[in-house]
Amino acid sequence: MQGTELGALKGVGKARLQALQSAGIADLQGLLLRFPREYLYFEEPRPLRGVTLGEKNLVRAKLLRLRTGYAKGRAITTAQLRDESGELEAVWFNQPYLQKQLEPGEEGFFYGYALKDAAGKVRLSNPLRFAPTESGILPLYAPLEGLPQKTYRSLVRQALELCRVEEILPDFVLQQFRLPTAAESLANVHFPADRAALTAALSRAGLEELLLFQLAALSSQEKETGGQAMAAGKALVQPFLDALGFPLTGAQSRVLGEILADMESDRPMARLVEGDVGCGKTALALAALYVAAQNGFQGALMAPTEVLAAQHYQGAKALLEPLGVRVGLLTGSTKARERRMLLESLENGWVDVLVGTHALISEGVRYHRLGLVVTDEQHRFGVRQRTRLAQKGLSPHVLVMSATPIPRTLALVLYADLSLSVVDELPPGRKPVTTRLVPESKREGLYGFLDAEMGRGRQVYVICPLVEETDELDAANAEQTFGDLQRRLPDRRVALLHGRMAGPQKEAVLQAFAAGQIDALVSTTVIEVGVNVPNATIMVIQNAERFGLAQLHQLRGRVGRGQEQSWCFLLGESSERLRFLCSTTDGFAVAQKDLELRGPGDFLGVRQHGLLDKNLLALAGDVGLLRTARDLAARVLEDPEDPQNARLLDYAKGYMQDKGFVFQPN
Ligand code: ADP
Ligand code: MG
Repeated sequence: MQGTELGALKGVGKARLQALQSAGIADLQGLLLRFPREYLYFEEPRPLRGVTLGEKNLVRAKLLRLRTGYAKGRAITTAQLRDESGELEAVWFNQPYLQKQLEPGEEGFFYGYALKDAAGKVRLSNPLRFAPTESGILPLYAPLEGLPQKTYRSLVRQALELCRVEEILPDFVLQQFRLPTAAESLANVHFPADRAALTAALSRAGLEELLLFQLAALSSQEKETGGQAMAAGKALVQPFLDALGFPLTGAQSRVLGEILADMESDRPMARLVEGDVGCGKTALALAALYVAAQNGFQGALMAPTEVLAAQHYQGAKALLEPLGVRVGLLTGSTKARERRMLLESLENGWVDVLVGTHALISEGVRYHRLGLVVTDEQHRFGVRQRTRLAQKGLSPHVLVMSATPIPRTLALVLYADLSLSVVDELPPGRKPVTTRLVPESKREGLYGFLDAEMGRGRQVYVICPLVEETDELDAANAEQTFGDLQRRLPDRRVALLHGRMAGPQKEAVLQAFAAGQIDALVSTTVIEVGVNVPNATIMVIQNAERFGLAQLHQLRGRVGRGQEQSWCFLLGESSERLRFLCSTTDGFAVAQKDLELRGPGDFLGVRQHGLLDKNLLALAGDVGLLRTARDLAARVLEDPEDPQNARLLDYAKGYMQDKGFVFQPN
């Protein structure tokens, strides 16, 4: 595809150019490769009485009564919708102008989440509106400030006309799977002719993405050398193991052995450690960092969120500093002065282990002698980060700790460039968490139980889902629950944590919770990964149906970390998924089920930012596609000299460097 300028498009002035660029869209190609986030099928609206709770629904209805009221400074506009099947309420927040725009009696399409309000009534939340004359399939893109969908679509349409799309898939692939050509598929992704054409286009895109990814990963694997061979014998780690305070489990010992063997080699380690929540991956990470330090190398420990980074920092400091390893913390909210000092220490080799967020490998962070990078991943650390480090003249060992158990089929594709270690054993003495579904009608009783447990000194998490698609409304949602809990449990110390709070503020709340100064912590999913407070024994998850299974399992893993019996309560509608979660505490079983039920896209619980994340995970709608991509990649690599294969391989290489994974701040 030719990389042509965005400025060539009609309707793109300075402001819109900027809006596009700040969304990471650099040229027409970038525009075309940004796929719609979802599609509306106007021929298939759902009846009002048949909406699916917890999902987005498209309905076609007549608008009846309309009113706007105010609560806590927010405008709340409600309308009654009616179709042949019955009635349903629609509600809009903070859009008081709707009172004037909407006309009782008018018909149209409405599209939004069907959610229960606090009283248990199902409503359509913040629905988008469309004229009743709409037909066919409409693509919806992730919203961009200053660029309404309609404008955006016109830009995409122009780009399609201006660009010539090259075919990169070898003929044998196209034929074997009867795939549409690149041009045909791109056109149908943005402006689907019909459902069949769209499905074919998306399968092609998904397969192409997976294939490129797989090829890039496989072909980058072989060449790397120039790593740092370290001494990593048993005697060397022993002081660390002695300081740890517990013996490693058998699985931990075996995996540590695999890690240390890698570190002894001069080929840079690229290893993924996965295991169920609470299996003790942190200790392994710290052991590896300790070994690197003993060899005179620096280590970086990266966490996906500031909260987690801070926690890792505390843990690393407590364990490693008495052993003579100097630990520092660097995150986005580190003050400029402190940051300067820290960077200087780092460059001079006065810091051995630097803990932080993705900032750790960003520009301007220079290491004295970087030997090991450990990531407690959420977004993956892949070829691209390694390339970036290599460009800095570094080939550190890389250890990736997976935050969720991943079924083998998926791990083999997503982490094709990594060796795999599995920690398949939990530390002894853990009592399995008891999981129960609680219907909304039993909420009162649940609060009673919470109160009693808190009376015994136990602590509680209450998790609120991402209901609305903005931080602001999610925060509001959590705030509402927070207020509710405070009212109902006046004697208990209740605190709130959400993504809109500043880093230090979040940290303070978590620290207070960890110190037992808070009885109940109401939170959005910022605590999802890795937070460790053994005295917390109850996890309450609101609107559990809104979460992926893997994510629920991850949340459940926040409790059951101490000696006490722990509980996980799922508030919401009963479903196969939730009943399954109640039936097992085996993270790999949960992961496998999630993969089967929802496909790889939702499985990782990734909030999808980047192009690749989206295509790779969302479009690879079925497990079959993963296997197919693996098989195809193998066939291409069998005959790399073939001109079509060679071109594809070339493309895969450049592709990873241009558009590989980027860490996104949470
Ligand atoms: P995860 O694998 O989910 O990151 P963590 O590393 O946070 O799990 O470990 C969970 C808890 O288990 C921590 O409190 C940790 O100290 C403890 N732990 C880890 N390994 C062992 C072990 N071998 N014996 C006892 N407790 C352990
Ligand atoms: Mg962890």
